[in-house]
Amino acid sequence: MPRESSFVNYEQVNQRVLLLRQAASPKRMNTPARIAVVGAGPAGFFTVAALLKAVPGARIDLFNRLPAPYGLVRDGVAPDHEPIKSVSRVFAKLLAREEVRYFGNVDVGAGLEVDVLRGLYDQIVYAVGSQRDRRMRVPGEGLEGSHAATAFVGWYNGHPHYRDRRFDLACRRVVVVGNGNVALDVARILVLGAERLARTDIACHALRALRESRVQEVLVLGRRGPAQASFATPELKEFGGLEGVSAVVDESDLALDAASRALAESDRVRSRNMEVLRGYARAGPEAGDRIVRFRFLVSPVAIEGREGRVSAVRVERNGLEAGKDGVLRARGIGETERIDCGMALRSVGYRGEPVPGVPFDERLSVIPNEGGRVLGAKGRPAPGEYVAGWAKRGPSGVIGTNKADASETVAALAVDWEEGISLRKGRRNAGGRPSGVTEALRERGIRWIDKDGWARLDARETAAGKEQGRPRVKLCTVAEMLQAAYSPLP
Ligand code: NAP
Repeated sequence: MPRESSFVNYEQVNQRVLLLRQAASPKRMNTPARIAVVGAGPAGFFTVAALLKAVPGARIDLFNRLPAPYGLVRDGVAPDHEPIKSVSRVFAKLLAREEVRYFGNVDVGAGLEVDVLRGLYDQIVYAVGSQRDRRMRVPGEGLEGSHAATAFVGWYNGHPHYRDRRFDLACRRVVVVGNGNVALDVARILVLGAERLARTDIACHALRALRESRVQEVLVLGRRGPAQASFATPELKEFGGLEGVSAVVDESDLALDAASRALAESDRVRSRNMEVLRGYARAGPEAGDRIVRFRFLVSPVAIEGREGRVSAVRVERNGLEAGKDGVLRARGIGETERIDCGMALRSVGYRGEPVPGVPFDERLSVIPNEGGRVLGAKGRPAPGEYVAGWAKRGPSGVIGTNKADASETVAALAVDWEEGISLRKGRRNAGGRPSGVTEALRERGIRWIDKDGWARLDARETAAGKEQGRPRVKLCTVAEMLQAAYSPLP
């Protein structure tokens, strides 16, 4: 049967799987698939959900680099956005399914080689996200006080890799570069005030530092205009309702050229964002408030320092120019300006990180794929290997976007499985037994956390949270997490 480059109609796909199933021999149908899903973030969990529906009887092993699951729901979503985190209740139900095993604290590709997984499973789905930050490539980016916003996010959310970072909040002004939702998150956390944050699951070290913060103004810079910003309207609007915070934008910054006006008028989100920004321009700041100031059509050309520390960001003003593809791009007009600040956060997007032994497209920063089928040597599909989420399409969309994305990948996997395409090759049918991965982990001296271990760690964090009137108090080092996971509950 010919391959399709992508699946748009899931009903048709399901129909196809059904037909293939009816045509298959009963013997094939009695050989449950053993599937490894690498990455226990939203893409991994939505993949598990789709697999449970599309591949009956499948035994699914879910691997995660950190001991605790949930990926960006735990380490990315801002602590004050509790309702967004409630999706973890759906993930917990999936984790509880008997067909699903959990292996936290397993670094696939480093600690556990991908070739080992290839030998143990019929299919592998990589749902490893985009773990690296992007750079602006301007002088001074390496100065102390110049950080990736992703590191700041990891730090305040208690991600163990960022636990020991230092963010000096003794300065009055912080510059945030970028016009996406991460820029809004970091700006909001910087001005929200410790009292509000103290009711959240923010990491204790970040709460302590933010209590002492002297930051009075956060400047959010867009290299293009307000009509091109990638803000979600509710997130932008939120600044209007924050106690002790004024959102500020200069009316002149909201003037649109004809092409931008057409763009804003043709798109509901953009036109609503413009309305919100016009409201901020009209209202102006309240005396004594902390300020979040939006500026547009400026690009950093250098980060300047004094004694090795950030002291200013030099920006160049931009115009907009349509490319051959019709997209309006920023172009410097030669006028520069110096903005004094004590910290600069670049919020210019995430990048994928290669998994050793798995194909990687450096230019697009994703695992090369066709509708979720990993493309290997000479661009041919690698049988039995799939990708979902940011590692598949790049860092875009909200958590829910990963649901349809994972369904597409799993539809491809299900069709392949029915067609006999997998990593199983000539191996004997395992008769539905789980894979022998635990032996491989033991041989490598890897201490993994299973479902019970995660339940103990989760119980400890939530119990500590209850004492403080918070949803949980996160353990922020791998050692602490392992200890909690391995110790019996009191
Ligand atoms: P993003 O939405 O892609 O925004 C990146 C921003 O960086 C864009 O404004 C981009 O400008 C700008 N940029 C890129 N390179 C730049 C450079 N060299 N100089 C100046 N500006 C530059 O990425 P993100 O904010 O990291 O968010 C990632 C994804 O997570 C998004 O899909 C986002 O919606 C999602 N997310 C959602 C929420 C939420 O729903 N609450 C919260 C956080 C994140 P151009 O447009 O000009 O390229």
